[in-house]
Amino acid sequence: MSKQILILAGDGIGPEIMSAAEHVLNVVNEKFNLGLSWEHGLLGGCAIDAHGVPLPDVTLDAARKADAVLLGAVGGPKWDTIERSIRPERGLLKIRSELNLFANLRPAILYPQLADASSLKPEIVAGLDILIVRELTGGIYFGQPRGIRTLENGEKQGYNTDVYSESEIKRIAKVAFELAGLRGGKVCSVDKANVLEVTELWKQTVTDLAASEYPNIQLSHMYVDNAAMQLVRAPKQFDVIVTGNLFGDILSDEAAMLTGSIGMLPSASLDESGKGMYEPCHGSAPDIAGKGIANPLATILSVAMMLRYTFREETAAKAIEDAVGKVLDQDLRTGDIMSEGMTQVGTQAMGEA
Ligand code: ATP
Ligand code: MG
Repeated sequence: MSKQILILAGDGIGPEIMSAAEHVLNVVNEKFNLGLSWEHGLLGGCAIDAHGVPLPDVTLDAARKADAVLLGAVGGPKWDTIERSIRPERGLLKIRSELNLFANLRPAILYPQLADASSLKPEIVAGLDILIVRELTGGIYFGQPRGIRTLENGEKQGYNTDVYSESEIKRIAKVAFELAGLRGGKVCSVDKANVLEVTELWKQTVTDLAASEYPNIQLSHMYVDNAAMQLVRAPKQFDVIVTGNLFGDILSDEAAMLTGSIGMLPSASLDESGKGMYEPCHGSAPDIAGKGIANPLATILSVAMMLRYTFREETAAKAIEDAVGKVLDQDLRTGDIMSEGMTQVGTQAMGEA
């Protein structure tokens, strides 16, 4: 089996955090004899500078051939004034949809060492371990028709369409049920079925699938407004949350803040075969780029997710996650998670530790 990775470091802090993560990848590859190999490509602003477009064909071809893509972050003020259709972020959206990465996995795990960095009281978040499964290539973000039109009276009107077909709902629900089976066995499907027909179909489809194929999973349903509230009231009631593109976008950012810093959060975006793109949840952080102070742990934890979900190397994935716990136990902190009495280290030093 080929085990090829494409690394796209991107812009801003991307190259710094990726260099730290690559160091970890190297060590794990040798230690566990994983047989992984990788090459580098350009995506985002650096690709615009070199090729005039954020997602050059050579990058897309390489991404198609690779088993997994490891991404840093893209974008920055340098490219904010160029034409919208070729901005760095468009490259990111395009590679996600070209690779059909419909399942976005965002774990929100609180490291006990960082309990004081959470926006909630320690007793509410202690032991928090939620997995949000967000549908990434459908829903209102992609639905047609969409646009801004001028009405007969001259007033402008903006409109978007929220659409999900049964097959789209089934395949994302399946991912959630499968993953729940490997952890707490509970899935909460989040919708607004009392108001929106598209989520009424969502709820029905998820319910039917659970009944026919996943009788051992404990399925519950929650309206999105209540879910937003429950996430800050009693987040530990959740194991796996599955939801559509828009609700998932919002709830996963909310869940992120329960864990302390955005610099700690990895993500995976998977297609139907398990091929995936792995990236930290944060952006290119132009305000701290080039200073060597960015937190590389979100990217390092993304490497762990890559080993788990694409390469099925659970032992190596776990070893990385345990190592992150150990450096936190040693009181090493980057600036974003720094607190009194801790030792502040830079990006590369954190990677080496
Ligand atoms: P994007 O639109 O690409 O998501 P953004 O505008 O949401 O970008 P980020 O780039 O994620 O913003 O940065 C938000 C804030 O978090 C900034 O102050 C940044 O310095 C900080 N930040 C982001 N990532 C890290 C990191 N890995 N380590 C430390 N601080 C970070
Ligand atoms: Mg952002």
